[in-house]
Amino acid sequence: MARRRVLITGISGQDGSYLAEQLLEHDYQVHGLTRRAPGERLPNIEHLRDSLELSIGDVRNPADLAAVLDRCRPEEIYHLASPSFVPELWQRPTETFDAVAGATAQLLELVRERWPGARVMLAGSREMFGDSGESPQRETSPCRPTNPYGIAKLAGFLLAKALRERDGLFVCSAILYNHESPRRPERFVTRKVTRAAAAIKLGLERELVLGDLSAVRDWCFAGDAMRAARLMLAHPEPGDYVIASGRARSVRELVQTAFESVGLDCADYVRVDPGLVRSAEATAQVGDPGRARRALGWEAETSFQDLIASMVDADLRALTASV
Ligand code: GDP
Repeated sequence: MARRRVLITGISGQDGSYLAEQLLEHDYQVHGLTRRAPGERLPNIEHLRDSLELSIGDVRNPADLAAVLDRCRPEEIYHLASPSFVPELWQRPTETFDAVAGATAQLLELVRERWPGARVMLAGSREMFGDSGESPQRETSPCRPTNPYGIAKLAGFLLAKALRERDGLFVCSAILYNHESPRRPERFVTRKVTRAAAAIKLGLERELVLGDLSAVRDWCFAGDAMRAARLMLAHPEPGDYVIASGRARSVRELVQTAFESVGLDCADYVRVDPGLVRSAEATAQVGDPGRARRALGWEAETSFQDLIASMVDADLRALTASV
């Protein structure tokens, strides 16, 4: 039987790499689009490189997208390429709109033109709910995004929904809450904390400086979130799903969990810098994954403790290897 062909945009990022691993395990022929230069080392997918068909290109460029679609002829498309570090994107609203909403529009237009039978998954974001007024948020919660990233994600989400309803495209959005792993960049708070816990344990650093310890997030494992993405495209009907653990946790809890996993008391090492505290959020950003559980049989399987401990372990190994 011919292997199913799949295209992943943003394949060299955290999410793309977990998804590629899972799809290869299921014997897919995996194509990936990445912006990285030819020959550049791609740490997240280096171990998969011989099994992947990689194309270099930018999702904002219609010619690059058309070329990779023609090359791959995908039956499934996972559109993960997107900037993701929200605070930085305030500085670049035009670029954010281009990279998030523009690229999504471009991709859906090309799919409608050339591959109307392909099933498409879009990486949506909890940021589209913003100051929703409802917590936990579910698929029907009010959307009141409060930053350029959330607004652009909401535009992509609404366009996908409209094209699904008008033209019958099989397109699904995963409304992703924070999803983490050892492959998360260090500018995100989980990885900043796990790396610091490891460095302090090894005697390489002495303190960890953070912003708001009472900030609340809903964290799950990125590999679990990507399993949800696959289940969405395997479902007979396209739809949109909140993908979250359903559990609210504070940054303080994250810090305690990370330090406890290496036998340290975080109170001895953590300092708050008011300069790092962001303005307070009116609505706690917690998702209700009930619909995904009922329709897809999905839930976040990796516990918060296991997730954070695995990140600290990976950081201990990486730091030990580098000293
Ligand atoms: P976000 O959910 O996309 O904003 O992901 P982050 O991992 O950057 O932030 C998660 C939460 O941790 C936010 O509410 C931040 O205000 C809070 N936080 C507290 N201290 C820090 C810090 O030092 N760095 C980051 N990135 N976030 C922090």
